[in-house]
Amino acid sequence: MELNRLFSDDIMSRRPLVLAGPCSAESEAQVLEAARALAAAGVKIFRAGVWKPRTKPGGFEGIGSPALSWLAKVKAETGMLIATEVANERHTREALDAGVDVLWIGARTSANPFAVQEIADVLAALPQERRDSLAVLVKNPVNPDLELWIGAMERINGAGIRRIGAIHRGFSAYGKHIYRNPPKWRIPIELHRRIPELPIICDPSHIGGKRELIASLSQQALDMNFDGLIVECHCHPDSALSDSAQQITPDVLAYILETLVIPSEASSTESLGLLRKQIDRLDDDLLELLAKRMRVARDIGRYKKEHNMPVLQPGRYNDLMQKRVDAAVQLDLNADFIKNVLASIHEESVRQQLELQ
Ligand code: PEP
Ligand code: MN
Repeated sequence: MELNRLFSDDIMSRRPLVLAGPCSAESEAQVLEAARALAAAGVKIFRAGVWKPRTKPGGFEGIGSPALSWLAKVKAETGMLIATEVANERHTREALDAGVDVLWIGARTSANPFAVQEIADVLAALPQERRDSLAVLVKNPVNPDLELWIGAMERINGAGIRRIGAIHRGFSAYGKHIYRNPPKWRIPIELHRRIPELPIICDPSHIGGKRELIASLSQQALDMNFDGLIVECHCHPDSALSDSAQQITPDVLAYILETLVIPSEASSTESLGLLRKQIDRLDDDLLELLAKRMRVARDIGRYKKEHNMPVLQPGRYNDLMQKRVDAAVQLDLNADFIKNVLASIHEESVRQQLELQ
């Protein structure tokens, strides 16, 4: 991808870069009250949803077009950049006509290449100057599919937009979890490895789904070197018309921003170098052990073949898994983590044994 700096130097030089504002624009008074408080807290980019993709019909689906003029007022009065979500051609045209500076593509939309292309086609037809100044943020798709996320950004980039950022908002999961959308940090970390120059902004509000989780998720994101945060803020969160449980007041946001510890570049000191060398050595040991284990698995595979035994013996697998997980927990390892590692090692052993059949 061909990328330019996401925002002006003045905004980018702040760590973290912060976008904040209500989940939804509900009324002119609510929007302006939040915007004034956030501007006073030093926030430079104001977010508010105008069209809200709701999972079920009957929820608050946003005010729609009339709310765009409230955002324009925020910009005129506070000087903040204004950001909103677009999901189709009409939203994109209307937001651009209203002078929106930052468009974001929501998680349900980035999962849909037709919709993303429709938006990209509107952007491609803009005058060069507008394309140069417009920033587009692409949320991860609801499903944990890195290629789909990158593909959505490539479509926007293909329309000549150079100011692109990714928003990590976690991934849908079935059942009850601590997080509304479990973060699966491995995916944004892999995104950074693939496209190091792409800024990544964490959305602790949609990951956590609860106010109490915003501070710790924000700190985790900074510890992992994310470039910024997008946080849902409402002056009266309990009466918010959407996502009320996860919105915080501008005062709470200001407090969180003050208490966040910003990891400094200078922490790459000698001792960090030594620790990294240790990790490199341990990883080498792990690889060797895994290779050894696979060799033994193949020997077992040959034995099973000679004796006409099936490759998969579920009784043995369940037994082995439980014993290993118990042992791992004794070593202070996380049970779910170990289950994933063992399941993946077992899957590879089975694949290799099947190859011998
Ligand atoms: C939002 O940011 O308000 C939103 C709808 O988020 P997501 O697309 O991540 O669900
Ligand atoms: Mn929301």
